[in-house]
Formats: sequence, C-alpha cells, structure tokens
Amino acid sequence: MRTTTARRAARTLAALVLTALVASCGKSGSPPVKGPKPEQLPKYQVAQDFQLPQSGTWKKAKRRGHFVVGAKEDQPYLGEKDPATGKYSGFDIEIAKMMSASLGLDPKGIQFKTIASANRETALQNGQIDYYVGTYTINDNRKKLVGFGGPYYMAGQGLLVRHDEDDIKGPQDLDGKRVCSAAGSTPYQRIQKDYPKATLVAYDTYSVCVDNLLTYQVDAVTTDDAILIGYAAKVPDELKVVGKPFSEEPYGIGVPRSDNALRFALDDALAAREKDGDWKKAYDATLGLSGVPAPQPPAIDRYPAS
Ligand code: GLU
Repeated sequence: MRTTTARRAARTLAALVLTALVASCGKSGSPPVKGPKPEQLPKYQVAQDFQLPQSGTWKKAKRRGHFVVGAKEDQPYLGEKDPATGKYSGFDIEIAKMMSASLGLDPKGIQFKTIASANRETALQNGQIDYYVGTYTINDNRKKLVGFGGPYYMAGQGLLVRHDEDDIKGPQDLDGKRVCSAAGSTPYQRIQKDYPKATLVAYDTYSVCVDNLLTYQVDAVTTDDAILIGYAAKVPDELKVVGKPFSEEPYGIGVPRSDNALRFALDDALAAREKDGDWKKAYDATLGLSGVPAPQPPAIDRYPAS
C-alpha cells in the first residue's frame, strides 16, 4: 500500500515538473516551440482596390485599417501565442492572414484576440471581433447565432490519454472515467449526449485539460484530433492519441450572423487560396509539421442567406 502511494506521489511530482515544462515551452530560455521560422511561412499578396461596401464588418475594419480576429492561443500547430513576443502562429492563424489579404487589408496589421470556445458566439455578436478562426466547428445550432465561411479543414473528435493507459481505446471505454474537454465545445456536448456514463470535467481551454491529464486528475482529454496531435507531439513519451476519429468537425470562419456579404467574400477568398496553392503551403508550414500530409480541403458550403 505504502509503495503504491509513494510511487503515485513520485509520478505526480514527475507529471507536475512536466506540466511546468509544457507550459513554459516557447518562453525565452526554454525549449523553443517546434514550428516554421517566420521566413518559411507563405506571404499572401494583398488584394489591391478590393471593395465590399455591403459588409458592415468590412467597412469598419477598412476604416480602422486592419481586422480584429478571434483565435486560440494554446493549440499547437493551429493557434498558438508566443508568450515572449505575443505573436500568434499556426494553421488557423495562416487562414486568418490569407483571408485578410484577400479582403484588401494587410495581414501584418491583424490584431488577434484570444477567445475561448464558450465565448465565440458572444464575441461575434457584440462586435468584439470581425471574424474568428480557431478550430470552430460549423453546425446548425451555431448557424442560428453566427455565420460561417468555409469549411477550410475537416477534423474529427479523438481521445488523448497518458502513455501508460491501456484501458481507453475509444469512446466506448469511457464509462466511469474522468474525461476533460472545453466548455461550450462540440466534443464536450457529444460525450454528454452519447456517452453519459463518462464523468465529464470542463475547463475553458484544452491546455488546462492536458495539465490535468499529466497530473492524474483526469483519465482522458477529448477534442478534435488535429488539436490532440499537437499536445501529444510536445510530450510524446507521456501522451498518446488513441482510436479512430468518431465525429466530423468541419472548421469554419465565424462571422457576425447578419453579415452575409462578408461570409460569401470569405468563401470566394478560400476557394481562390485553395486553387492557387496558398492553402497547401500554409498547411505544410504549420499543421503539416505534425506529420500528417495535406488532405484535400473539404468542399466549401456556400449556404444561402436566411
Ligand atoms: N471543433 C470543436 C468545437 O468547435 C472543438 C474545438 C474547439 O473547442 O475549438 O467545439
């Protein structure tokens, strides 16, 4: 008994050290965040004389001189903020930049704001941000509150567990297990609805869930595979992604619900960036570093205005 307790304490301590390490990645003096150097990222040509007078959001941004974009700051390969420089990087960030360039505003001027999963709709509704790019699944419920350009990527729900975990291989193994996800996210809602015997734990962000996994507070973290791969890659000896994706999560660019002109302009811009190769270049320089080759982007869903 005593040995088990001692061993568990030692493990918890090791995990705590590891958590601190993960958290400090990217701060000066700590291991650098793995990722492309700024000069390896594609440059997006800014459209000259672009006009979108039907879009209130665009007109406001044009007057201001730059877009204000909502994003995530703790999702490796997708949306990550360097605590030392305040700079955001990742595939979502590249999508945000190429959209700004296509809409005639220099992406260098974008002001990024970190917005958690549960706060995205409100941020778009009250004009805090012009558009949102941060692993944001398009679905009918959300379409009642906001609009979506895209999709620009197709993810699927997965599970992240500790390396020594043998019991959890898929969502069917979650009965009685502590499972962590972000409040207001589709993966959280899916576990609640389809796997009610799991004990759900919610935080604002997935990085807090990962800390809880490393310190044995929870048994699994669930969200999109694209997000989980990034956390596993930071500490491959400690964490692993298991099983097959068990949902479809088409990522959209969130816009204010009433601004159909902006939504359609983003659809056009995306189609053009997929065609001219910028989408693939951006993928290869960010999410592609996880080792997953660039897929075909999903078909753009230009749904009618209502
Ligand atoms: N794509 C899912 C969602 O929009 C999970 C990722 C996230 O929370 O951003 O809810």
